[in-house]
Amino acid sequence: MQDNKHNILARELLQLGIRQGAALFVHSSIKAIGNDHSPSQLIAALRTAVGDEGTLLFPTFSTRQESHFDPSQTPSTMGAVAETFRQLPGVIRSRHPRHPVAAQGPLAATLLADHESAIGPCGVGTPFEKHARSSGQILLLGVDLDTLTLLHTAEALVDSPYLKATKGRYLDHDGHIQEVTMQQVPGGHRGGVRGFEKPLRIQGVIRDGRVGQARTMLLDAGSALDAMINFLRKDPAAALCKNDNCPDCVNFQGKIRNQQLQDLGAQLCITLPQRAKDPQAIKEIVQRFGITPQIQTDIDLKIVRVKPGEPPPPPPDNTHGWVLQPAAEELNKFKTLPAGYTGLAYSPLAAAHKGIQPFYDVLYKGDWRDLVTDIFVSDGITDLRGFCSPPLSHLDIINPSGQVTLGSGHAQLREIISAMRMRNFTGRYHLVIPEGDVFAQTLRSLHEFWDLLP
Ligand SMILES: [Zn+2]
Repeated sequence: MQDNKHNILARELLQLGIRQGAALFVHSSIKAIGNDHSPSQLIAALRTAVGDEGTLLFPTFSTRQESHFDPSQTPSTMGAVAETFRQLPGVIRSRHPRHPVAAQGPLAATLLADHESAIGPCGVGTPFEKHARSSGQILLLGVDLDTLTLLHTAEALVDSPYLKATKGRYLDHDGHIQEVTMQQVPGGHRGGVRGFEKPLRIQGVIRDGRVGQARTMLLDAGSALDAMINFLRKDPAAALCKNDNCPDCVNFQGKIRNQQLQDLGAQLCITLPQRAKDPQAIKEIVQRFGITPQIQTDIDLKIVRVKPGEPPPPPPDNTHGWVLQPAAEELNKFKTLPAGYTGLAYSPLAAAHKGIQPFYDVLYKGDWRDLVTDIFVSDGITDLRGFCSPPLSHLDIINPSGQVTLGSGHAQLREIISAMRMRNFTGRYHLVIPEGDVFAQTLRSLHEFWDLLP
């Protein structure tokens, strides 16, 4: 009866596409298989499936650590199969205090070596990364994609800004307790990872099957890693959930935005209407969004018409004092601005209002773009000053025909931000929040600004 059970399990495993001689990383739930299989039976069947030349690996992380991690004593809290496996004769375990891995087979020692010295628990030089780069396979047996530690390898390889640093202690080869500071440590919710299942399946990275009653997925580890790196490069928040009430993912989104702002190299200023109540509460909303911009109320702006043939007036002490409002016939003027003229603010909307394409006509062609220190990416200024009639909705820009065109406005703003970033613009982008529900308007402006970033 035992032999029969073993043979059925082993056959089902082979039918999944497990290769003889494979390095197989297993995430499993023995309960999901059903039919009273024991952890030992499953391990024996896995060994039959990969053969003597195969290497089995299990995550043996522990949430029950006392003063330090001892690879021979500290139990795994990753389920009964991993805990049974790590105690088998011939199985070795890495010394990493947070993400130790147990393995048995020809590649075990190579894959586990120096895990504790890697920069992070799951990144470069860890068993997870080495396994993926050794044509390894991953078996998810009765468990979901959110158990896949390889996601954290992808996060580490793209240097996700929401990974953190932490300390850990482990027992070294000589029986001494060592303390290490680890970087790129994962932790917290990753609600978006189930969204990877479909694209991974489309790319042929996942093979579905069944073992006992358990739904299984067999993954080619290297292809899965490359695919997840691509997902995260496209959208650094791809692994996170979109739930505004998930404190982890909200916090991580904030860390991503903060990183994007740093990469932009410029500052972000938010100007609230003078009558806005409770700027402190608005500041908290903005910080929850993840950024720490300057917040000011009602800057005093003076609109300057630059006249043909005359240099613009010298800037006032307050560098926020001017908004340059070029007119089409005055564009040539900008080419002769004196060097060293600083403190110019540029309002793309004001330019558009004059029938000028804010990027193509001014920032792309004009020489004075080097002099701009402040760019007003929202149209609140014009609303506040009332010189634009009718008032335009937020971030709208009118095209040369005088029509309000949201799409082309966004496209021009996007060009401006992208071009200025390439020129190492280190000035300020201003979001001027229109009157109304200032909380909602602020959040909306922030989201709109983020949508414009390269
Ligand atoms: Zn979440």
